[in-house]
Amino acid sequence: MKHINKIEHLGIAVKDIDQANTIYEKLLGVPPYKQETVESEAVITSFFQVGENKIELLASTSPEGTIAKFIEKRGEGIHHVAFDVDDIEKELARLKNEGFTILNEKPKLGADNKRVAFIHPKGTNGVLVELCEEIK
Ligand code: ZN
Repeated sequence: MKHINKIEHLGIAVKDIDQANTIYEKLLGVPPYKQETVESEAVITSFFQVGENKIELLASTSPEGTIAKFIEKRGEGIHHVAFDVDDIEKELARLKNEGFTILNEKPKLGADNKRVAFIHPKGTNGVLVELCEEIK
């Protein structure tokens, strides 16, 4: 079994989800197939299908949210890279063992029917990494 199957999606931090939806619909030629709020993370997300990968737009629903803070510090742009895995617990254990800093010891419920966990960017050359496992 492979460890990481593929890039599942790229997460892009945006200030205004409606404005960004319009831009990405023009760019990709398709409307978002889903828009979803994740209350626990204070984000509203929308997803675009691009071939077998996806683009996730994330906007904060609160000035205290992690996306709002990210944009304040670094501006809009790529926020995380998400990798698809078959067994998220197993991958987290493997990566922890490899010395990566796991931000969520227990996977949490993410958008788009996924269990997700994040890896700190300090150990991945500045890129926030998300692991996601599709809930079957
Ligand atoms: Zn994501």
